[in-house]
Amino acid sequence: MTTQVVRSVATDVVAGLLGAGFNGAIRLPGEAEYDVQRRSVIPTVDSRPMVIAEAYCRTDVQAAVRTAREYGLPIAVQATGHGTRVPADGGILLKTTPMTSVLIDPERRIAKVAPGARWGAVIDAAGQFGLAPLSGSSRDVGVTGYTLGGGVGWLARKYGFAADSVIRAEVVTADGRFVTAGAEHHPDLFWAIRGGTGNFGIVTSLEFRLYPVRHVHAGIVYYGIDRAADILRRYREWTTTIPNELSTAVVLTKIDGRRAVAIKVMYAGEAEVAEHLLKPLFEVAGPRLAGELRTIEYGEAAMGGTPAKHLDFLDVLRDDVIDAVTRFPDDDAPTVEIRHWGGAMAHPGPGAGPVGHRGATYSLIIDREMPDLPNSGRTFVNFLADPGRAETAYAPEDLRRLGEVKRAYDPTNFFHLNANIRP
Ligand SMILES: Cc1cc2nc3c(=O)[nH]c(=O)nc-3n(C[C@H](O)[C@H](O)[C@H](O)COP(=O)(O)OP(=O)(O)OC[C@H]3O[C@@H](n4cnc5c(N)ncnc54)[C@H](O)[C@@H]3O)c2cc1C
Repeated sequence: MTTQVVRSVATDVVAGLLGAGFNGAIRLPGEAEYDVQRRSVIPTVDSRPMVIAEAYCRTDVQAAVRTAREYGLPIAVQATGHGTRVPADGGILLKTTPMTSVLIDPERRIAKVAPGARWGAVIDAAGQFGLAPLSGSSRDVGVTGYTLGGGVGWLARKYGFAADSVIRAEVVTADGRFVTAGAEHHPDLFWAIRGGTGNFGIVTSLEFRLYPVRHVHAGIVYYGIDRAADILRRYREWTTTIPNELSTAVVLTKIDGRRAVAIKVMYAGEAEVAEHLLKPLFEVAGPRLAGELRTIEYGEAAMGGTPAKHLDFLDVLRDDVIDAVTRFPDDDAPTVEIRHWGGAMAHPGPGAGPVGHRGATYSLIIDREMPDLPNSGRTFVNFLADPGRAETAYAPEDLRRLGEVKRAYDPTNFFHLNANIRP
């Protein structure tokens, strides 16, 4: 298509949006704000949508869906860009960023958020009532995208995946309908969105449970890299003995330019108990190089993450894996994060959504591709670097059922600019 034709289609699409009742801002190529709004946090994604539509309310979302259908355009939804891995080239990029409302019901311990809300806003609002959401490693990540992809946070061993705490969602479906999904309404859709990501519709509101966690004993402590193998061997025994209130990860990383072993800790309880539980692990770690654990408000804990170029789940932490991840020469070592899963993640209530591989004991994340490392092929959709591998994030039976729900709610795969599940 020539530039002129593209411009005239874009003008038609804008007219279509306005005609359908779209009230938000509309950005076209060439405008400065277009380049701001099309950005993903992931630097390799260079999205060139035909039109960017910034939704201010649910009816804007409906108008965008109906217009995309009418003009046969692909549509992508983006709140923060933290998980945008598929460009919306030539389509409509629907931004939910302006829809940031967060409502807390402290009596029922429930939050209701609009689709542009970030975790930081929920943590702050819920914290005023001594409550915490099941947020993850970053305050900036969007609540909705995170939760629809399962959502694993530092309270997950105690309270489960964020998706398991969802009680209701409002969704605009592929045909532009507005539906409420919950245990009693559209239960199949409700099941699918709690782990199946944005494949089934655009969520315009999410309600989920909060938990009575005001303070945690948490932090990151650093030890010498020469203790890495001993720490990991102790870690695999020690993690079989600890309660679900304690979440940890061992990270082979750098501090002040030197390689080191970081141990990340969050304990939802008293400092003395945490220190007692951690003793056997710290015992083999040698002298502490840096860092401390402190009793702080939940919202203050900054646990950080590791970009997942290599991602796998491990049921046991085998010697050959420990050897493989600890043997890099100092000047060429990737960051390796081994995190303890299990607890409530492995034991969801009845009717829980399709979050996959719940039984895994550890995740192994490396910030570099590692084709030589044995790999079970199991992944977690929120940490998936390649959105074309969505099926690896689910158990076969759940994948089959996700396909059925997709056929029922989106038979033409209208929502495909994502970690796609085909109808
Ligand atoms: C720094 C960082 C830290 C992270 N930490 C964690 C962590 O601790 N635990 C964890 O589980 N994940 C974590 N993630 C992964 C993150 O949860 C996913 O990338 C998630 O998709 C981000 O959602 P978003 O809305 O912020 O991103 P966006 O890029 O705005 O959206 C990503 C995708 O989510 C879907 N989506 C977003 N909004 C909607 C909606 N309203 N309706 C339907 N679908 C929607 C769409 O498929 C969209 O393509 C982290 C990512 C980063 C970059």
